[in-house]
Amino acid sequence: MASDPRELYQQVIIEHNKKPRNFGKLDPCTHHADGQNPLCGDELQLTLNIREGRIEDIKFEGHGCAIDVASASLMTGAVKGKPVVEAEAMAEQFRRMVRGELDPSNEANLLGKLTLFQGVKDLPVRVKCAVLPWATLHSALKGEATVSTE
Ligand code: ZN
Repeated sequence: MASDPRELYQQVIIEHNKKPRNFGKLDPCTHHADGQNPLCGDELQLTLNIREGRIEDIKFEGHGCAIDVASASLMTGAVKGKPVVEAEAMAEQFRRMVRGELDPSNEANLLGKLTLFQGVKDLPVRVKCAVLPWATLHSALKGEATVSTE
């Protein structure tokens, strides 16, 4: 493991692109949403099975840039098995983090290793790529079928 956060970030992105976790489609599913980031060309389809307020299973399909795919892979892993309310709170924190509005050292941090994405706040064009999976999750949980970052 690299000790430099930038190097660690790169390693994780590369690793999750090579072997995305939870890639595929749940059929049948209780919730789904499609997300698009026209700025980059990222497209994402999320399928979830939610039972008694908990995300029992979640998968994603689609194609996107390295940051989008790695973010989707890490997001699905992070929220799987979690109560919906907790997943929503994580989505909200993630959105604020990549916009530089969250101080993980000063606030209860729900994001764990996902904080390695905080570096994208210095890359404005990449913020939407990193946020797309979380925005799509938010839509799916609210029962909206499509979301665009534009
Ligand atoms: Zn992208």
